[in-house]
Amino acid sequence: MSAIVAIVGRPNVGKSTLFNRLIKRREAIVDAVSGVTRDRHYGKSDWNGKEFSLIDTGGYVVGSDDIFEKEIDKQVELAIDEADVIVFVVDVETGLTGMDEDVAQLLRQAKKPIFLAVNKVDNAQRQADAVEFYSLGLGELYNISSINGSGTGELLDALVESL
Ligand code: GDP
Ligand code: MG
Repeated sequence: MSAIVAIVGRPNVGKSTLFNRLIKRREAIVDAVSGVTRDRHYGKSDWNGKEFSLIDTGGYVVGSDDIFEKEIDKQVELAIDEADVIVFVVDVETGLTGMDEDVAQLLRQAKKPIFLAVNKVDNAQRQADAVEFYSLGLGELYNISSINGSGTGELLDALVESL
């Protein structure tokens, strides 16, 4: 079985955009027993010859990303349980939010590799702005633009290295 990589973060940071960029093919939903798994999208990807399953979390229940904080926490806890590696996406355009800090707090307790992806780093100014996310205490930042693809190769290099 290939490793499971979960993409988590608050709404609108670009999780689904990143997921769609990374997947090679969609997978049938593996476990439709609990309602929870229905609001997640699964896909397969590979990088440097290593295959992995990707889960995009959040925002599928009511067809909107306007979900409650409690729901995000549930998604993060589920990801911590079932994933081997977690990609935590934040958004440099909005900057650091309280919700990001709450998610980070949950993730710091997880004994799994966490990759902090600072998304929407579309230009050089935003590279500079991204440093504020060091304060989340999750180590290295992977500055990416899910729209133009910059930085995603470096993120994937590090990610598959951890598998
Ligand atoms: P999700 O709620 O975390 O799944 O976020 P989405 O993937 O739905 O993206 C939310 C919004 O951010 C959409 O309008 C995307 O087009 C936009 N977005 C996603 N990635 C980027 C990026 O790298 N740069 C910019 N400028 N916008 C992005
Ligand atoms: Mg989404």
